[in-house]
Amino acid sequence: MSVIVKRDNVGIFGRMNVGKSTIMNLITEQNTSIVDETPGTTADSKVALFEIHGIGPVRISDTAGADESGVLGEKKKQKVKSEIKECDLVLLVVNPENEGFGLESEILDEARELGKQAMVIYNLFSEKGSDSVKEMEASFPVLKMCRSIEINALDFPERARLIEFILNNYDRRKSAPELLPFIERDNFYVLIIPMDDETPQGRFLRPQAMVEEYITRKWAYPVSFRMDLGTARSENPEPEIERFNRFLDSLSIRPKAIITDSQAMDIMGKWCPEDIMLTTFSIVMINHTSGGRLPEFVNGIKTLDKLQKGSRVLIVEACNHSRIGEDIGIVQIPRILNKIDPGISIEHNFGREFYENPDLEKYDLIIHCGGCMVSDQKMEARIRDLDSVGVPYTNYGVFLSYVNGPQALKKVLAPWGLEGLV
Ligand code: SF4
Repeated sequence: MSVIVKRDNVGIFGRMNVGKSTIMNLITEQNTSIVDETPGTTADSKVALFEIHGIGPVRISDTAGADESGVLGEKKKQKVKSEIKECDLVLLVVNPENEGFGLESEILDEARELGKQAMVIYNLFSEKGSDSVKEMEASFPVLKMCRSIEINALDFPERARLIEFILNNYDRRKSAPELLPFIERDNFYVLIIPMDDETPQGRFLRPQAMVEEYITRKWAYPVSFRMDLGTARSENPEPEIERFNRFLDSLSIRPKAIITDSQAMDIMGKWCPEDIMLTTFSIVMINHTSGGRLPEFVNGIKTLDKLQKGSRVLIVEACNHSRIGEDIGIVQIPRILNKIDPGISIEHNFGREFYENPDLEKYDLIIHCGGCMVSDQKMEARIRDLDSVGVPYTNYGVFLSYVNGPQALKKVLAPWGLEGLV
């Protein structure tokens, strides 16, 4: 019986004659690819199966240079794009002394669009190479989003440095964490859903539907409560407080936890009883789509206290839903930031605009939505971009909890065992 080995897919991409095959041979320590100075020597992909100590079994492919013109060139380009889709790691080989950046840019854009990790290997063919790298990075901002290394691929001792670079920067895909790891069978969980102008007819929003489905699947009981935020925030919130308490008391077992819309944290931060856990849909989603990186989004919120006149904040939403009324991203969060300091400058990126933003490093803080409409691969790619430029980032749920006081944030992090981070 044959055993199927799960391998990480590593693809080597780039123009013709930049040394892709030499890099492949360097990594695999064998002549897997034919190396020749004639452009286009690798007409089709060469594949090697082997093991990289520290990563495990990998399938590494040396792809065809796709910068040929004509029908054949177009076919190669399509092939390269489909290879990117299958990769876990894209290694883009660049000769920094080459003119232009068209094909390289297409490869990086495709990799980012598909949420693939990409690293750049500058293959230096002469001593001028290093200077050219600096010029190239200044001209093509997308390069700042990628980890990179400069090597001379013909120099075999460089292998150890190249492998170390890959090991230090390659983030192996983990399986997505449980949506709500704290759910216990046969217990009630309350979903606070304040319906407003943006609530679609006939369905729950994706995070609400996912949470409801998950709790049910775990043999527990999701119960939703439509919070009247208008009354709850009014000068006479008593009727809504009573309605909420009556609802809690009507359940035959005390609920274990409340999952609330983040925008209701100003209310739930105060109303949630001490004996019931609390978290928000946005926190649930960002932890899930980011592969469990909630702690990093919590660390980012510390920057909020340092914002002042002239600080720049980017609010990022991963989709382009219709924005009306008291939208969180364009109305509520800017209003809070404005109260912190009216001099804070606020910008937005919706959907793909984030990928096209060439200057992420200019922001002091990035506040990201729950990311419920993007795959975990794409969310992880977004985080890699942010890590590469070193900008602190946080999330709607973390932000809207923290602005109600550190205790409110501690409370929503407790179900995740992260209250100690505040
Ligand atoms: S992707 Fe972001 S903005 Fe769009 S619906 Fe989900 S949480 Fe909201």
